[in-house]
Amino acid sequence: MKNWENNIRKVVPYVPGEQPKKEHMIKLNTNENPYPPAPGVAKAVADVDIDRLRLYPDPVVADLVQGIADFYKVENNQVFVGVGSDDVLAMIFMTFFNAKEPILFPDITYSFYDVWAEMFRIPYERIPLDDEFKIRTEDYKKANGGVIFPNPNAPTGELMTLEQIEQIIQANPDVIVVVDEAYIDFGGESALPLIDKYDNLIVVQTFSKSRSMAGSRIGFAISNPVLIKYLNDVKYSFNSYTMDTITIAAGTAAIKDRAYFEMTRDKIIKTREWTKQELKKLGFVFGDSRSNFIFARHPQVSGEALFEALKEKDIYVRHFSNPARINEYLRISIGTDEQMQEFIDFLKAYINQ
Ligand SMILES: *Cc1c(COP(=O)(O)O)cnc(C)c1O
Repeated sequence: MKNWENNIRKVVPYVPGEQPKKEHMIKLNTNENPYPPAPGVAKAVADVDIDRLRLYPDPVVADLVQGIADFYKVENNQVFVGVGSDDVLAMIFMTFFNAKEPILFPDITYSFYDVWAEMFRIPYERIPLDDEFKIRTEDYKKANGGVIFPNPNAPTGELMTLEQIEQIIQANPDVIVVVDEAYIDFGGESALPLIDKYDNLIVVQTFSKSRSMAGSRIGFAISNPVLIKYLNDVKYSFNSYTMDTITIAAGTAAIKDRAYFEMTRDKIIKTREWTKQELKKLGFVFGDSRSNFIFARHPQVSGEALFEALKEKDIYVRHFSNPARINEYLRISIGTDEQMQEFIDFLKAYINQ
């Protein structure tokens, strides 16, 4: 081994879902939105003066920050934007998780958390979910260096109530508590109203799921001005121009169209509930997901076999072989009614064969 090998930051990277390039596939594997972005987005992108690409983008992303602040009725200095919420979350880990005690997150959760913790050398502890894949709030009442969890959780889709979230925040007044609300728009109550009440709370959301813009990479955090300032200080010390001019225009147009957002969100919720009924008829077992995916297993059919059989028909879902506790499950993103009908038709034939 060469000496320099000792000084390399070695990491086991996060593995994103596949992005196959096929014409007629049904893609239910990465929780993308099946509907296009709001109509104003195309116009905003077309209207960008290409000459402006000579210049660096706006480092404070003022237009988009303003749009988000208006939508959520907060002040501009309470909004932090990043290149997807993955970027926002990575900045949060770097800025706020620097204690000797471990940060806490569920054992079954967004699989980027432990990757960042390893990458930034942050000690961490995975707290087991209960037998129904729910977070037990009392488990988060111990010495720690910070707390992070998604609500609803991923990949389980399990939602916590605001009271439960408040219990976790109240038990942890001396560290930063981060609620990752990537899926909150699909049927949960946001923790945003709590940011005025608790000075250690950060709420993170994204345009990737409920706003149909995974390809644009827009995420944001809302908190009090003090925490947002600390976050910006680290961000500008790392890379100050992360969001490009075209994305800023696209995101600003998207956040302005509340009606389109609500319409597509409602359609997905309706399709999700229909899919639940159909899966139940077929014997699948799953919790009451409030996200844009369903995490389900079939008592008689192996998760792996089903995953492979679906893939054979160009229907992509997500299967996690780790940890063993979830390897019989499939995470099925909610597509259009037509896509879900085809998916269900396939399952009917496969399971009854
Ligand atoms: C999808 C997802 C994110 C990241 O989304 P971005 O595309 O980076 O905004 C963050 N947290 C959870 C739990 C997610 O599922």
